[in-house]
Amino acid sequence: MHDSTKIIRSTLTRAAAGEPLHPSPVFAAPFHTPGDPNDSPYTYTRMNNPTWTVLERAIGQMESGQFAAAHAEAGKPYRASALVFASGMAACAAVFGAVLRPGDAVVLPSHCYFAARALMQECFVKMGVVVRFAPTAGDAQGGHLEGARLLWIESPSNPLMEVCDIASLCERAHRAGALVAVDNTTSTPLGQRTLALGADFAVASDTKSMTGHSDIVLGHVAVRDLELRQQIEQWRTLTGGILGPMEAWLALRSIATLPLRLERSSASALRIAEYLATRTDRVLSVLYPGLPTHPGHALAARQMQHFGAIVSFTLADRASAEVFLAKAKLITEATSFGGTCTCAERRARWSGDDVPEGFIRLSAGLEHIDDLLEDIAQALDALPPTPVR
Ligand SMILES: *Cc1c(COP(=O)(O)O)cnc(C)c1O
Repeated sequence: MHDSTKIIRSTLTRAAAGEPLHPSPVFAAPFHTPGDPNDSPYTYTRMNNPTWTVLERAIGQMESGQFAAAHAEAGKPYRASALVFASGMAACAAVFGAVLRPGDAVVLPSHCYFAARALMQECFVKMGVVVRFAPTAGDAQGGHLEGARLLWIESPSNPLMEVCDIASLCERAHRAGALVAVDNTTSTPLGQRTLALGADFAVASDTKSMTGHSDIVLGHVAVRDLELRQQIEQWRTLTGGILGPMEAWLALRSIATLPLRLERSSASALRIAEYLATRTDRVLSVLYPGLPTHPGHALAARQMQHFGAIVSFTLADRASAEVFLAKAKLITEATSFGGTCTCAERRARWSGDDVPEGFIRLSAGLEHIDDLLEDIAQALDALPPTPVR
């Protein structure tokens, strides 16, 4: 079955007469639990909840697949198992917390999501974890694996859209005895199946493209190995970073349209990137893995099914970026990405990212592409031409 069919079928209830087609949220703290608690599938919602179960089954199906050609077990099918969390950061923290002990080394991308970097430095490094930074581009992290416990990958990275060879890095990490986690937020499992490429953990903020309506915060961790699953689940139960049933239910409604949204936003992002690349009179550089001029394009085309909604580009300076965002009527100035409406922001207004002052991260929404291109054109026209360099 194709992904779109699988997702739709996986969120339906059993076809019993009079049942609603879709499960409703189950609001419960404790559940009836007579006698031995091991006999009850649900006892207390910090441990498990029926609405999570449906969502986790659907995400698990998306993350399942066959090992990619580059992998030693090429072509062999595997089943993924997913655990949902209160946020993408709670999912990141679960992998860090379940895997890393004082003295362990972790290899992090120098430009990965800034809160993941901050969590590592502010908490885990202070507890004795050793962090090694290396760029995503050029698979540079592969040179720092000796004796490491965990390799953390983000490809394409947020917001610089750097790409690395996930299958090759997984193989090198496993040879060095390290586990591999991929933060797959920018792609979603339908854009890129990271477990198939060899990762031990697929991690994501499902706040972004996965649920795509800019109204809930959640995340997940998916694994193939049941022992690793148990460690992540224990972390969730003990730290309590759990998803509310209402959010889980909203997520279930949202993921049914993921294939449609991903197709539309990726197609629009490519058109926007192509247009921006023609505007050398105003735009200094465009970063989108779907552009043939992107240094990671061939690699991205090999390991990704969709190039995603994010296009990053650089204007002359801070003032140009601010004027662009003020003039663009169909681009909502906000952080985050992957929602129904096109959003953008000047990333340097946050202190976490090492980007130029005129750097904009744009997320293509689901509006008609002609309207978006027209709006972007008039907003660029409002800027002074950039000096030829
Ligand atoms: C947003 C994001 C996160 C954090 O997710 P939240 O849901 O905001 O906690 C982690 N990684 C990446 C790449 C992100 O973009």
